Amino acid sequence: MKVLILGGTTEAGALARALAEREIPARYSYAGRVAAPKLQPLPTRVGGFGGAAGLAAFLTAEHITHLVDATHPFAEQMSRHAVAAAEQTGTRLLALTRPPWTPQHGDDWQRVDGIEAAVDALSGPPQRVLLAIGRLHLAAFAARPRHHYLLRLVDRPEAPPPLPRHTLTVDRGPFTREGDLALLREHGVERLVCKNAGGTGAAAKLEAARLLHLPVVMIDRPALPARREAHGVDDVLDWLRHDTAPHEGVERGV
Ligand code: NAP
Repeated sequence: MKVLILGGTTEAGALARALAEREIPARYSYAGRVAAPKLQPLPTRVGGFGGAAGLAAFLTAEHITHLVDATHPFAEQMSRHAVAAAEQTGTRLLALTRPPWTPQHGDDWQRVDGIEAAVDALSGPPQRVLLAIGRLHLAAFAARPRHHYLLRLVDRPEAPPPLPRHTLTVDRGPFTREGDLALLREHGVERLVCKNAGGTGAAAKLEAARLLHLPVVMIDRPALPARREAHGVDDVLDWLRHDTAPHEGVERGV
């Protein structure tokens, strides 16, 4: 048995620790988006594979038997490639996912189905907006230049974001409710825009928005092809135990 974790999330890190503790042979893969990714207790590779075909070639060359897609729910392309490459090579595939957030009592959410729809949702008068969507799609919001955007990014971008009015804060989760309350108050935020990532690491801003009665533009997750899913590390370990050919072994991955 040999596992490949497609990572970049808190859950992927937790799985990496669990596999390392059990001495299950595994590798961890980062896209290479952040300057100093967290060290993992597994041999780690960084960078794209070169599409679904490149991933399929990697799976074959590295004799990967089990592929765990533990990428972020908005990493749509990687997840599609994982499905295609697993199918092509006969590699077992499991997605380690987290349930989406659902609105709680007191929440004021406007749900939209993508970045463009989120931009459309900001058609009103100028506001101070926490734009918590990562760095890749910031340019789309240049179409709404009248707002002041508060951006929270993992790394300081090489080029300034193309938004005429913005404040940049560089920080990495997990975030706390108190910290996010302070951030929203300090910057006079009136509205939030975020992706429905789910999980705990980035949920604090929603709690803070609820307490401050702030509206949230919530971007729904992209639809993905059907695949087997697990919601926790223990479920992945069960899957490895049960979805394994007898000669592969799981305890020590012989
Ligand atoms: P994406 O749009 O689905 O992927 C674009 C390309 O990046 C993929 O086709 C692949 O390149 C490469 N890639 C993505 N994840 C990879 C991985 N774990 N290992 C190796 N290559 C990977 O992905 P994304 O939204 O840019 O996300 C990139 C990474 O950041 C992921 O690991 C994800 O878990 C993490 N992340 C994303 C978000 C988000 O909001 N999207 C938030 C937090 C963390 P090739 O086609 O060349 O193989």
